[in-house]
Amino acid sequence: MKKISIIDTVDKIGREVEIYGWVDSIRDHKKIVFIDLRDRTGIIQVVGGENFKKLNTEDVIYIKGKVKERPKNLINPKIKTGAIEIEAGDLKILAKAQALPIPINTDGYEINEEMRLKYRYLDIRRPRLYKNLVLRSKTINFIRQFLFDKGFIEIETPILTKTTPEGARDFLVPSRLQKGKFYALPQSPQQYKQLLMVAGVEKYFQIARCFRDEDPRADRAYGEFTQLDLEMSFVEQEEILKLTEELFTKLVAAIFPEKQITQTPWPRLSHSSVIKKYGTDKPDLRKNKKDKNELAFAWVIDYPLFTKQTEEDYFYGSGQAKFAPSHHMFTAPHPKDIPLLDQDPLKVRGLQHDMILNGYEVGGGSIRIHEAKIQQKVFDLIGFNEDQKKQFNHLLEAFTYGVPPHGGIAPGIDRLLMAILGEPSVREVIAFPASSGGKTAVMEAPSTATEEQLKELSLKIINHK
Ligand code: ASP
Repeated sequence: MKKISIIDTVDKIGREVEIYGWVDSIRDHKKIVFIDLRDRTGIIQVVGGENFKKLNTEDVIYIKGKVKERPKNLINPKIKTGAIEIEAGDLKILAKAQALPIPINTDGYEINEEMRLKYRYLDIRRPRLYKNLVLRSKTINFIRQFLFDKGFIEIETPILTKTTPEGARDFLVPSRLQKGKFYALPQSPQQYKQLLMVAGVEKYFQIARCFRDEDPRADRAYGEFTQLDLEMSFVEQEEILKLTEELFTKLVAAIFPEKQITQTPWPRLSHSSVIKKYGTDKPDLRKNKKDKNELAFAWVIDYPLFTKQTEEDYFYGSGQAKFAPSHHMFTAPHPKDIPLLDQDPLKVRGLQHDMILNGYEVGGGSIRIHEAKIQQKVFDLIGFNEDQKKQFNHLLEAFTYGVPPHGGIAPGIDRLLMAILGEPSVREVIAFPASSGGKTAVMEAPSTATEEQLKELSLKIINHK
């Protein structure tokens, strides 16, 4: 006899088993008490005696008992263990549970989100959420295997680093050793992945955490999110699109077989044509928007390299310049349009590619600038002053030691899963997301620092409530 998972009881009829789990529900029939016992693999009916009366739902228990067939008329065809039950011998209560602050036997959408996040460890007991986390894990595993098979290597890049201005506000971390200085958490590993191309890595990927201090939205978690970040040397845009398309087409077939992709190969649409036709650069191209199993992937290409700078682009050129990058400042101009950089920058096309799905932008990337001269030109056009340019000296210097032409993409894992699963928010596919007010789940960060901590960092807090 040995400890087994609940799902493994199905072929143990007539045998004694030991199982562990949470009491999911209790039905007291006076002399006998039925409970449903739940573990991560499933749920099973257990028949117990008087001693089961002391149980509460969500108590954690151990049961030794015999697996029996249920009478034909009591079979529950809806669950895999519906034709059997356990006749309990031993019962041990390993931990008592008080009444839960939120119900977990519903899909959870009806519950106040603050409460769900405060008690996220209970919220995840809900089968829907647990299943989402399993699918996320399988998705990441599939991506890794696919890319390893294509010769990529996975490399981690620093979290304590210097800003990569990609259009958002940075999170700053004060340095203790160099007082008055700050690290920035990476908005993405963009500069590191380009440096890895100079290093000769050629095929890099990382399941990368990115940090951006932006206001949250349903399709954007506050603070941090996860990307599949990848970069390749000696590539044209075509190869990046083909590889990404193959990866996600195969991933959907393997992990989400009930889903159908609207059109393969994925349509490729020019930026100007989608704006003209749909008024947005991320149109929802599903044929039937009510069908929750339809996935309309598409590429949007031929973006203008620059947009007109607005007040939101405050981090470029202190509002002096007229242009802001459409994607980011490392995106290469279309080779044919290089003369236009001097003549009419807004007409320059960029080698940018965005991956869209069901009305969301789920990934973006580009062929990169690998000539210091052109990079300088772009810095000038977006209004960088000499000090701002200096912050990129390391990259420009690296480019002087033999830089391969390179490019890549970074599909967002959270948003992609949200779109595939048809969830209303990215928070439904993240184990411990921050609330929309920026408070982290369960731990409720940010919190105040002690006087000693602040002193060590030479920081003083002024004007806080
Ligand atoms: N670093 C870019 C981003 O996070 C992606 C890329 O250009 O590869 O959007």
